[in-house]
Amino acid sequence: CGVAVLLMKRRMKNSGEWGKVEALLKDFEEKCATPVGKLKQVADAMTVEMQAGLASEGGSKLKMLISYVDNLPTGDEKGLFYALDLGGTNFRVMRVQLGGKEKRIVKHEVKEVSIPQNVMAGSSSEVLFDFIATALAEFVATEGDDFHLPPGRQRELGFTFSFPVKQLSIASGTLIKWTKGFSIEDVVGQDVVGELAKAMERAGLDVRVAALVNDTVGTLAGGRYNNPDVIAAVILGTGTNAAYVERAHAIPKWHGLLPKSGEMVINMEWGNFRSSHLPVTEYDQNLDIESLNPGEQIYEKIISGMYLGEILRRVLCRMAEEASLFGDYVPSKLKVPFVLRTPDMSAMHHDESADLKVVGNKLKDILEVPNSTLKMRKIVVELCDIITSRGARLSAAGIVGILKKLGRDTFKDGEKQRSVIAVDGALFEHYTKFRNCLKETMKELLGDAADSTIIELSNDGSGVGAALLAASHSQYTDLEES
Ligand code: BGC
Ligand code: MG
Repeated sequence: CGVAVLLMKRRMKNSGEWGKVEALLKDFEEKCATPVGKLKQVADAMTVEMQAGLASEGGSKLKMLISYVDNLPTGDEKGLFYALDLGGTNFRVMRVQLGGKEKRIVKHEVKEVSIPQNVMAGSSSEVLFDFIATALAEFVATEGDDFHLPPGRQRELGFTFSFPVKQLSIASGTLIKWTKGFSIEDVVGQDVVGELAKAMERAGLDVRVAALVNDTVGTLAGGRYNNPDVIAAVILGTGTNAAYVERAHAIPKWHGLLPKSGEMVINMEWGNFRSSHLPVTEYDQNLDIESLNPGEQIYEKIISGMYLGEILRRVLCRMAEEASLFGDYVPSKLKVPFVLRTPDMSAMHHDESADLKVVGNKLKDILEVPNSTLKMRKIVVELCDIITSRGARLSAAGIVGILKKLGRDTFKDGEKQRSVIAVDGALFEHYTKFRNCLKETMKELLGDAADSTIIELSNDGSGVGAALLAASHSQYTDLEES
């Protein structure tokens, strides 16, 4: 009898706990909801903030940074150029031999180096830039005969630096703040090109930085090189951001000369966008408070690859603690910030097997949950779906905000004006459900006008883009001869 009662009690407890899991799930789902009406409000708010950021310095959370890029690649670019790409977990160096209109990219070599955690955070400007310059020097030393630098010329480089920078010219600019887990105090406020130049000198390397660009600006340049209809670029990777081509006379805060092209590329720094219309949950708030940059990059923290897995971890942790999601114990690994990475989340989310084997293995390998039940695994997949859909749908709303600003969100006099958005970043490239959801949402938001809006993967556009911009800002003007 006692045993029966015990069993019954246990069953009741279990069903009670499952009820709690389901209640937490439902509550989270509701708070993350992004119905079309809300997304339209987000898109409108994005347009309004863009306007405000262009009107005056500090006029908006959106910095709308002037890039000094007023001409995008034409295809005529020629010669050997290097590029450096700093901004995610990996740092890349590359060289490109550009062959002009006919031959385009003749040869292209890349080397990827991962940045040690202790360099990324808590080191010094000298340590960071020495690390970069040393990697570049080693790479330059391996330049083969199939790359051609005319005799007597200095090598030139495009520097993709994917953080908010106040540009002073096309080849100089000061770091406004770090994002994405980087934190090296003495770089903030410094001219990053100056810091790089000093480090290159220390490394005995004679290279001139011809262009300093954000990864969005590089992607826009690389995208335009391949497709003249590219009008904007979006990064959906470790972080998120967008850049687009604005008419110079629509930038009231720009007091410089009107560029010949009449255009200026704007680095929006949309990761810092914030609006009362954003669905922010208590999990997001806690993530923000405990982050390296509290109060900053709120849009980025609910969209980008650095954070999606961490949001999932936080929800799972609460469900384990308060509703015994994984049974009577709370896996201690669940308490470790950032243990769940977005690629692992993506693998679980795409698990097609009937028993959700991939989810089971990830739970075991990463969180040390030995025997997860199908029911538990299903909850995990549902959470992946809620978190990822919210991020993808909000990204789509941001893109629609840009299209609105440019008057490209509807048909112009019945004309279908093609608008291509070049997108780069691992989140977009590798997280298929994120990508598909983003594209579906564009259709929901734009209706028929979605047909003339193309979201295009521009794989590694930013590196090649930086090299192209270095070419168009070269100190040598007789590029035809090179
Ligand atoms: C940075 C941007 C960058 C984006 C994507 C953000 O955290 O602030 O400058 O473009 O990440 O890499
Ligand atoms: Mg990148």
